[in-house]
Amino acid sequence: MRMEGRRTSSNVDDRRGMSTGKAAGLGIGGLLIAGLVMYLLNGKIDLGGLLQQAGGMGGTEVAQDYQPTAQEEALAEFSKQILASTEDVWTKVFREQVGAKYEPPKMVLFTSAVQTGCGGATASVGPFYCSADRSLYIDLSFFSQMKQQLGADGEFAYAYVIAHEVGHHVENLLGTLGQVHQKMQQSDKTTANNWSVRLELQADFLAGVWGYHEDKMFNSIDEQDIANAIRCSKVIGDDYLQKKSQGYTVPDAFTHGTSAQREKWLKRGLQTGDLRYGDTYNIPYSQL
Ligand SMILES: [Zn+2]
Repeated sequence: MRMEGRRTSSNVDDRRGMSTGKAAGLGIGGLLIAGLVMYLLNGKIDLGGLLQQAGGMGGTEVAQDYQPTAQEEALAEFSKQILASTEDVWTKVFREQVGAKYEPPKMVLFTSAVQTGCGGATASVGPFYCSADRSLYIDLSFFSQMKQQLGADGEFAYAYVIAHEVGHHVENLLGTLGQVHQKMQQSDKTTANNWSVRLELQADFLAGVWGYHEDKMFNSIDEQDIANAIRCSKVIGDDYLQKKSQGYTVPDAFTHGTSAQREKWLKRGLQTGDLRYGDTYNIPYSQL
C-alpha cells in the first residue's frame, strides 16, 4: 500500500506497556496456539466466556516504561493511518449511501491485557470490537502471529483486519449488530453460530467496501495488496482453521464463515464499494 504522508487518526488510545493489575504477564503464554482459534471469536462483540474468564482481573492500568521496537512503532503508525482512512471513507459512504453522519470508533492499542467496556481481555483473543465503548482493541503482536502462523502478510492484509473490526462498528451504527445480537441470545447454539457467521461475513464485506473507497480516494492499492488480503481472508476461514487445528471441520461450530465465504464477501465489497450488495441476513444460509 502507498501510505507515505498520510494523516494518522487522533481517535487512538495508546495503552501499550500498561499493566492491568494481576492480569499483567498473562496473554503471551499460550498466545501462539490460542491466537488462531481465538481469532475466530473476535468480533463476537460480547466475546462470551473469553472476557468473562479474564473479567475478574480488576485493578487499574498502570503505565510502565515501555520501549517498542522500531518495527512495532511502524506498525502502530500504519494502524493509525488505516484508522484515519476508515474515518474518511466511512464519513463519505455514510453521507452518500446511508444519509447519516458517521461517528468514528476509538482504537485502543494494548499489550498483553486490557480493560474494556465489555470486560477484561487478554491479547490471546485477537483483535476485537466492543460495542459498549465503541472501541476496537488491538495488540500489534497479532500481526506478527498472522505472518508467522498463517503466512498472511502484507500491509493490506493487516489493514483488512483493522477494517474488519471497524466493519463491526459500522454494523453497530447501522443497527444490525444489536439486532443480530438479540437474535443470538434467543437462539440455540447452532442457530446463534449461523447468525454470527452472517455478522462476520458482513464485516468482511464492509472491510472490502472500505478498500474500494480507500483506493478511489488515495490510489493506494495494487494487485499484490489485493492478493494479500484475499489470501488472509482464506486462511482465517473457519474450515481452514479447524482443519489446521483439529484435522476436521464442524460446520455447526462455524462462527465466521468458511474460507470461500470470507473471500467471496471481501471481494464483493472490494468490487462494488456499495452497501446495497452487503446484506448477509436475508439470503438463505446455504447461499452465503
Ligand atoms: Zn469479526
